[in-house]
Amino acid sequence: MRLLVTGGAGFIGSHFVRTVLEGGYPGHEDTRVTVFDKLTYAGNRANLPAAHPKLEFVRGDVCDGRLLREVLPGHDAVLHFAAESHVDRSVDSAREFVRTNVGGTQELLEACLATGVDRVVHISTDEVYGSITEGSWTEDRPLLPNSPYAASKASSDLIARAYWRTHGLDVSITRCSNNYGPYQHPEKVIPLFTTQLLEGKQVPLYGDGRNVREWLHVDDHCRALTLVLDKGRAGEIYNVGGGNEQTNRHLTERLLELCGADRSMVREVADRKGHDLRYALDERKIREELGYAPRVPFEKGLAETVAWYRDNPGWWTPVKYRRDELARQGAEGSTS
Ligand code: NAD
Repeated sequence: MRLLVTGGAGFIGSHFVRTVLEGGYPGHEDTRVTVFDKLTYAGNRANLPAAHPKLEFVRGDVCDGRLLREVLPGHDAVLHFAAESHVDRSVDSAREFVRTNVGGTQELLEACLATGVDRVVHISTDEVYGSITEGSWTEDRPLLPNSPYAASKASSDLIARAYWRTHGLDVSITRCSNNYGPYQHPEKVIPLFTTQLLEGKQVPLYGDGRNVREWLHVDDHCRALTLVLDKGRAGEIYNVGGGNEQTNRHLTERLLELCGADRSMVREVADRKGHDLRYALDERKIREELGYAPRVPFEKGLAETVAWYRDNPGWWTPVKYRRDELARQGAEGSTS
């Protein structure tokens, strides 16, 4: 099989690609991969092998329909990870989120139709459902996204479904809870807090820390995506939950313990605008229909993740400080 993986240089996409190339998914030992990635601040070529006989890398924007039409022919399926993915950044400015997440998804699907690449897995998030105080969401619950990020992802889900319903494209949609694991950009809460603590710096906890998130190891998410790729039905949506609910305060306490720090390292900051209180997925469908079950226990996965950041400052230090450096250069540039 030949796969095109958009956003394959980001956190989750690169985990999927590295695992395929290592032969980690039964039935995909011979699968070849083309990564199609714009390498925004979130994408990192170093997340992938520098060279591999089954890997091709194309630097490109999913909004560039012409380039997609050149690259897509010969592929059997697309995994669509590419997106602007950080909620806080979408609160600051939503433009890129709408452009990439909505416009880019539409361009990609149109290019798939034009080139006869029929199978697409569109990777989305539990945040499209909004916030829930009790119980959990099944796949048919209404979309009530609250952040511009979540709204752009919800819009892309609807576009993806429409290309199935209108054009018969073989599209499946996945909605996953919060992921964690190695190679996640240090703007996201677990790597941000971990790297701050490893550097002896305080961590900023939003509001009263009561917000609840469900955590899933990136490896479990990617195994679920492989099941959906291989066996998921057209036009169907699959929730992928972790089943592991944590308040942000509890998560912070665990990270303090794992990094050998105490509560004086927590700085409470004003809450995020429109901060969703709780997300929770009902994932019976993917378990019963595709035989999915998460494997990585949260405590073990979290300890291993912290250990990975401790052992790999050479990966995260340049990633964490690149934006500051770029901003500084920009500021200097604007005064000259
Ligand atoms: P990420 O920000 O780490 O990576 C995104 C990748 O997309 C980067 O490599 C970036 O360079 C690339 N990209 C961005 N804009 C692009 C464009 N216009 N054209 C081509 N490439 C572009 O994100 P992630 O955490 O790996 O998330 C991947 C997908 O999974 C996203 O669609 C996200 O919405 C979804 N998701 C993420 C989580 C999570 O907890 N991280 C949970 C559920 C769903």
